[in-house]
Amino acid sequence: MQPGISIVDRVRYTSWGVRSIYGVLLLISGLSIDTLVQAVMIRWQRKTWFISPSNIDPLYELGTSLGFWGMLFFCLNCVLATRWLWVERLFGGLDVVYRMHAFVGKSTFIMLVLHLMVLIAQALADTDTLVAYLIPGLDLSYTLGMLGLFGLVALVVVTLWGSMPYQLWLTSHAWLGVPYLLGGAHALVAHADWYVALLTGIGGVAWLYSIALYRRYAPHARGQIAERTTQHGITELRIALDTPLAAVAGQFVFFAVTKSQTAIPAELHPFSLSAIESPRDVRLSIKMLGDYTRQLDQLAPGDAVTLYGPYGMFGRRMPATQRQLWIAGGIGITPFLSLLQQASHDTEITMVWAVRTRADARYIDELTQRATQRTGISVHLHEGPLSLADIEAYAGPLCTQTQQVLMCAPIPLMRQMRAALLARGYAAHQIDSEEFGLR
Ligand SMILES: Cc1cc2nc3c(=O)[nH]c(=O)nc-3n(C[C@H](O)[C@H](O)[C@H](O)COP(=O)(O)OP(=O)(O)OC[C@H]3O[C@@H](n4cnc5c(N)ncnc54)[C@H](O)[C@@H]3O)c2cc1C
Repeated sequence: MQPGISIVDRVRYTSWGVRSIYGVLLLISGLSIDTLVQAVMIRWQRKTWFISPSNIDPLYELGTSLGFWGMLFFCLNCVLATRWLWVERLFGGLDVVYRMHAFVGKSTFIMLVLHLMVLIAQALADTDTLVAYLIPGLDLSYTLGMLGLFGLVALVVVTLWGSMPYQLWLTSHAWLGVPYLLGGAHALVAHADWYVALLTGIGGVAWLYSIALYRRYAPHARGQIAERTTQHGITELRIALDTPLAAVAGQFVFFAVTKSQTAIPAELHPFSLSAIESPRDVRLSIKMLGDYTRQLDQLAPGDAVTLYGPYGMFGRRMPATQRQLWIAGGIGITPFLSLLQQASHDTEITMVWAVRTRADARYIDELTQRATQRTGISVHLHEGPLSLADIEAYAGPLCTQTQQVLMCAPIPLMRQMRAALLARGYAAHQIDSEEFGLR
């Protein structure tokens, strides 16, 4: 837990989606502990490990329940991966959805591994059942379950390889639907109940949507590159859209090149909208970081692109306060560029933008110009590592009671800043941040 955040505040300022997941997990933990205690007590009273028949053994009930809860969470995770807009709204932003996706994924893994381990422990004295559980081919349901679980373990191990190239990681992640369907088939063969079929069906449809139907059915706007400039390692794309994009400042899109004169892969990459001139005229500002972004300087006017979304609730998760402190680091300036373009005239904004060298401050003229067009906006460029003391030197005394803080910067800087702001007396809900990573 982050320092300085009480549990009450955590609950008060989290979305309904997050609250529900934590609530269900708490319920599962309570029920599981209760069943485990019953399993221990019955063994204690009977002075034997082996309780027969298995359907009167609480340990067996615990094992099967863990399988059900694990599949429920697996199904939920398939839904979280769809980027459906109602899911995003329920969770308060796609970044929150992805964080919960990672959390639910880990919980699913633990529950399903425990499901097998508890059932094995329960059947330790029953060789026939144990053999049926563990030897593939003897029992259809158990064989499907084993294949699903081994598939899950293998893919999770691959996922844990942190330095794996992103696209490879994404592909391996997409295969997780196969263990899910095997698990669903295992449950259906064992218990042909309507709710098991429903659960398997919902997760299956969500998975199919994510891997095969997203590009066709997700909200998107097609268009062409109207203008491309590349300077100081940043490619700026002005995009003319054929259909309007209902985006607000601070949001991001998943960008795909659909037809270009050079062979740029049709991958989807998230980028914040750095300007929204109109619903058909938007701008992206892209730092040339890796294999994909380094190719974007080959784009030319007329190349066809598609923007999926828009997504994100940066700056809109809490009602806006009159005084705001904006902290940007490097390319993290992009959402602020559109936010500044559409900022309310009642808001007093102090912006500090940290860059490594002045050459990286490509947008400083644009920011300064906007600041001079309106009262109540001050923009400060900072070269080198940024601390809270630096921010105070630019902004004057911080108003911890009334000021809202928006941050978009490299993750280490945001962590350090968040800790410093909390230590200074800001409440967690006053700080909103956008991370440029969705893994
Ligand atoms: C919400 C959001 C908004 C962003 N806005 C901007 C922006 O305005 N300007 C900008 O320059 N960058 C932005 N980024 C970062 C940008 O998406 C990555 O830098 C880019 O995708 C890197 O791709 P690459 O193949 O060139 O680099 P790589 O070296 O392959 O990737 C570097 C890192 O970027 C992330 N990444 C790579 N591909 C994807 C993908 N398809 N989907 C999600 N994450 C990926 C991974 O964490 C990866 O480790 C944003 C990211 C997010 C999540």
